Amino acid sequence: MNERLSETANRLIAGERLREADFRLLAAVPDKETGERLRAAAVAARERVYGRDVYVRGLIEISNHCKNNCLYCGIRRDNRALERYRLTPGEILSCADEGYRLGFRTFVLQGGEDGYYTDKLLCDLIFRLKSRYPDCAVTLSLGERTDESYRLLFAAGADRYLLRHETADAAHYARLHPGEMSFENRMRCLYTLRVIGYQVGAGFMVGSPFQTAGTLAKDLYFIQEFSPDMCGIGPFLPHRETPFAAYPAGSLRLTLHLLSVIRLIQPNVLLPATTALATADPRGREKGILAGANVVMPNLSPVKVRKQYELYDNKACTGEESAQCKNCLSQRVASVGYRIVTDRGDVKK
Ligand code: SAM
Repeated sequence: MNERLSETANRLIAGERLREADFRLLAAVPDKETGERLRAAAVAARERVYGRDVYVRGLIEISNHCKNNCLYCGIRRDNRALERYRLTPGEILSCADEGYRLGFRTFVLQGGEDGYYTDKLLCDLIFRLKSRYPDCAVTLSLGERTDESYRLLFAAGADRYLLRHETADAAHYARLHPGEMSFENRMRCLYTLRVIGYQVGAGFMVGSPFQTAGTLAKDLYFIQEFSPDMCGIGPFLPHRETPFAAYPAGSLRLTLHLLSVIRLIQPNVLLPATTALATADPRGREKGILAGANVVMPNLSPVKVRKQYELYDNKACTGEESAQCKNCLSQRVASVGYRIVTDRGDVKK
C-alpha cells in the first residue's frame, strides 16, 4: 500500500481541504484496501446527508442540432451522418406531462447549442412548465449562452443549470475543442450562473483523450473550490463519426473511484449515476450508487428521437418507453438497497 496515498485518503475522509498535489494522488485507481475505504466513507457521507433516497430527473433531449464542433461529441456540427431533430414546445410539454404522471418532479431540458431555442421561446416554455407544475424544478443544460439569456431564463422560472466544465486545464480544453471555443468563457459561464442564483452543475468525462492525473487533479481541485451543487461525471465513450473515434473508452473503475472522491470532497453534492456509466457496464448505475451517487436521470424523450441524441456509440436505454425506463431504474436502485423518491431533490445546504 502507498503510504502517502493512504494518508491523503484519511485527510479527505476527515473532511480536510486538499491541495492540487494531494488530488493528483487520488486521481488514479487506488489499491484495493484504500479504494474500499474511500468507497465506504463516500456511501456513509451520502447517507448522512440524503439517507437512502435517490432522486430522479426526467431527461428531455430537446434537440440534437449543435453549432459547436467538440471533438468528442456525436452531435457535433460536422457529423453529417446524423439525422437531426428538434422538439417543439408542445412536444416538450407532453414529455413533461408524462413525466409528472410517473412521479418526476424535476425536468432536465438538454440539447445541443441550437439557435432555434431563442430566449423568447425558452422563457415561454419554462413559464408554461412552471405554471402547469409549480411543484417541479426545471433544469437547463443548453450550453453556453449570453449572461442576459441566463438571466432571462432564470427570471422565467428555471431553477438549475448543468454545464460541465469538461476539464479544468486550459491546455487540455484546447485539445478537446476547436479553436473557436474557449475555456475562459466556459468557466465564466459557470460563475455567472452561480451569481444569477441557479443551482449549478459542473462535471467532466473520465478518460477523455489527453487526460492525465495532472488534469484530473485540477478537476478535483476545481470542484473543491467552486463547490457545484451538482457534478456530472461519466466515462468518455468514443463515437464513430468524431475525430476521437479511435480513442479508448474511459475506465469504469476510475469513474467509480472518482464518484467516491467527489462525494467526499463535497458530501451534499447531487451526483448522478449517468447514462454513460450505464452504457459502459450493464450494472453501471447500481455501481455508481454504491460508489456515492444519489441521482439517476431516466429518459423522457420521445422514443422516436432517442437514438438520434447519440453523444457516443451504443448509448444505453434508447428503446424503452418512459414508464418502462422509470420502472427499470426503480428496480435497479431497489436492488442495491436504495429507493427512488418523488421529490424535487434540491441540494441540501
Ligand atoms: N450542449 C450542452 C453543453 O455543452 O453543455 C449540453 C449537451 S452536451 C452533449 C452534454 C455532455 O455530454 C457534455 O457536457 C459532455 O461531457 C458529454 N459528452 C459528449 N460527448 C461525449 C462522449 N463521447 N462520451 C461521454 N460523454 C460525452
